[in-house]
Amino acid sequence: MAISSDEYNNKTRDLNTDVFIAGGGPIGATYAKLLVEAGYDVVMAELGAADSFREFTRDDGRTDYIPGFHKKNTVEYQKASLDIDRFVHVIQGALSLVSVPVQELTIDTLNPSSWGAQGAQKPTHWTCATPRFNKDIELPVLVDNKAENSKEWDRLYYIAEKLIGTTTTAFDESIRHTLILRTLQDAFSQQNRTFESLPLACHRMPNADYVNWHATDTILEHIYMDPEKRKRFTLLTNHRCTSVEVVDKNASNKTIGAASLKNFLANRDGQFPYSFVQAKIFIIAAGAVATPQILFKSGFVDYTNSNKSLIKNLGKYITEQPMTFCQVILKSELMDLIPRNPFKLDWWQEMVRNHKERHPEDPLRFPFRDPEPQVTSKVSQRHPWHAQIHRDAFSYGNVAATIDSRTIVDLRFFGFAEPRVDNTITFESGYEDDFGMPQPTFHFQLSDDDRKRAHRMMLDMCEVADKLGGFLPGSEPQFMAPGLALHLGGTTRAGLDPETHVADTNCKVYGFSNLYVGGNGVIPTGFASNPTLTSMCYAIRSAEAIVAQLGGQKKVVRQ
Ligand SMILES: Cc1cc2nc3c(=O)[nH]c(=O)nc-3n(C[C@H](O)[C@H](O)[C@H](O)COP(=O)(O)OP(=O)(O)OC[C@H]3O[C@@H](n4cnc5c(N)ncnc54)[C@H](O)[C@@H]3O)c2cc1C
Repeated sequence: MAISSDEYNNKTRDLNTDVFIAGGGPIGATYAKLLVEAGYDVVMAELGAADSFREFTRDDGRTDYIPGFHKKNTVEYQKASLDIDRFVHVIQGALSLVSVPVQELTIDTLNPSSWGAQGAQKPTHWTCATPRFNKDIELPVLVDNKAENSKEWDRLYYIAEKLIGTTTTAFDESIRHTLILRTLQDAFSQQNRTFESLPLACHRMPNADYVNWHATDTILEHIYMDPEKRKRFTLLTNHRCTSVEVVDKNASNKTIGAASLKNFLANRDGQFPYSFVQAKIFIIAAGAVATPQILFKSGFVDYTNSNKSLIKNLGKYITEQPMTFCQVILKSELMDLIPRNPFKLDWWQEMVRNHKERHPEDPLRFPFRDPEPQVTSKVSQRHPWHAQIHRDAFSYGNVAATIDSRTIVDLRFFGFAEPRVDNTITFESGYEDDFGMPQPTFHFQLSDDDRKRAHRMMLDMCEVADKLGGFLPGSEPQFMAPGLALHLGGTTRAGLDPETHVADTNCKVYGFSNLYVGGNGVIPTGFASNPTLTSMCYAIRSAEAIVAQLGGQKKVVRQ
């Protein structure tokens, strides 16, 4: 529970606001944007350091910064096609197994073998794939009527896609993208199988060579660029939300009175080590592990006597994605097509011609900076998995420096696991993670159906790979370690039935009047597609419910 009275007396300050948010990732940012725009004051606590900024010029000519910039935007990582593999090390440095340390590291020099090493978890390390969920297989129920449910999801997806800036055209003028997309479309057209451009949250910069990857800063810019909105938003970095405090434990519908925070930098610069934030609404959006962790630390779960638990289903029915991976070296028959402009495209012809003029010695005959392929085959009844045929940086799969990275294609296939009550995340009071929070333990097994589906997915990946090339030695088809997809779901699941869910479909926790949860943990279904866009939909719907609860859009008096 909370902090001890000694600690409290030591140095504590009290803050007062309309809405408190724990977690500054894309979901916390979505809530912040919508609630600040509705006229409410928001205080956000983020464990990590805001060490990645986008610079912009204010109306008054001064330079200002928006936190949450995508690391992959650094020109260094985009300059040459080989550089994508350098980003692997940034991700490795930014990952910790399940917890989120705050120490700052010079990540570029980190030994790649130190996977799981400590480093501040960046809310900005995702790879920006933003597909919608398949309506028949993955999409959860928000409204108890099929047609209405589908309409509500369409509405939310539309808003979420605008908010994060999703596009399917940023890689249209890529030789490799076009070659791979069309090769797969041709190869599988008989089977009625669709290959298309992967929806990505990004935009191509005017000089065409670089892509701007969207992240938390894309969402927060709406606040940071407007001085009036900015006054209503307080971001406390290096602050851990330890717990939230119930006002009256015996009330049938409980109210949170305050969130308790710890400031990790307090000793360094004389700030208050502890704060209490009083608010009308509390949103815990600290990721799929830390969100239930904060609720456990708040004393809402009793593993010895579930009748005493204020939140009965916390950490039950968790889901993860079985994942297969391989890399291929593109077939020479495909590479040989490139100089012949096989699809009769003007931009293609021009690129090949320019490249030949500038680099007659290059045997590959297409630009070094040709954007990478970004192809997908979405979840369907016949192929209930999400396929990414692309080139990207993950914490694994970096290519040896001796191979021209332009010839390599990654295949990542993500399956789904049915939610089952016995798949759980629990927390240990006696053991702490790197941040002094209760250590999580996972109990997770795939069902027989999940395993069979994963096997079919592996066979399918091999069939798709076969159309493109031979396997890169060392990157032959493999199942990745459980949890590597980093798409844990269901830890704070939202749904219509309080008996099997943690929160209602507005993400308000059952049994509480002002406590909300956000992030992939709220998704109650098994899902194979990347989840962030869908979690944003939940946050949008939830923020609308919060605005309604607070009395609607507030009239803001401009000063
Ligand atoms: C390599 C990689 C690739 C990915 N690619 C994709 C992709 O292409 N598409 C996709 O949809 N998803 C992708 N994901 C997943 C994506 O990153 C998450 O879905 C997304 O970040 C979830 O947003 P969130 O705001 O809920 O959580 P997070 O982004 O995890 O943010 C939560 C924040 O809370 C903070 N926090 C934790 N504990 C506390 C505490 N006690 N107090 C205060 N703050 C706390 C953390 O520091 C963190 O910044 C990828 C993830 C990784 C790692």
